[in-house]
Amino acid sequence: MSQAGPLVLIVEDEAPVRRFLCTALEAQGYRTVEADTAQAGLAAATTRGADLILLDLGLPDGDGLDVVRRVREWSGVPIIIVTVRDRDDDKVRALDAGADDYLTKPFSAAELLARIRVALRHAAATGSPDGEAALEIGPLRIDQERREVRVGGRAVHLTVHEYRLLTLLARHAGKVMTHRQILGEVWGPPFVDKLQYLRVFVAQLRKKIEADPSRPRLLVTEQGVGYRVTGG
Ligand code: CA
Repeated sequence: MSQAGPLVLIVEDEAPVRRFLCTALEAQGYRTVEADTAQAGLAAATTRGADLILLDLGLPDGDGLDVVRRVREWSGVPIIIVTVRDRDDDKVRALDAGADDYLTKPFSAAELLARIRVALRHAAATGSPDGEAALEIGPLRIDQERREVRVGGRAVHLTVHEYRLLTLLARHAGKVMTHRQILGEVWGPPFVDKLQYLRVFVAQLRKKIEADPSRPRLLVTEQGVGYRVTGG
């Protein structure tokens, strides 16, 4: 096993979940460091220089949300929230505070590893100019210089806001974006609560890019959280 794999900090108070995470990660060559409280997690984040943080929201000495805020004061390290389904609002707040993604318990090792790969890839790409000319995700191709969108080779004509919405999600392919993040980026800060706006535009966009708009494969809904563009 490689000792040079990325270092993952696991902040989680449930020992069985921690063991599951460690085992899954170490089997793939990741190195791990564990913390079972918010305070220990913050201490490890500052001293160990992790490449990625897996963070539980319900911690015995505080809220994982505060850990996200504190870490974001000084670090852009990818943070993936590990949470239970009944904490939808906290999940959204954590994403808005700067967490990169979330996993809802229970989840598979394959799902965990896929999300970690996306987050690490995205972190590596950040800092390189985002004006990369072409974005390709599955059958979707966006030529940013010509503002041309094709799906499976077929040209698709989008309005300005449809194009901005799709390009934003495509630049973060594989990553969830919250309703507020999308509204703020595409329409501007005064619009962050106009959820109905976003729903209308997503529906329009799906009619143009999805083979079956009622079963979207490219622009998928993250229930109660936001949207994600994937390769299908
Ligand atoms: Ca917990």
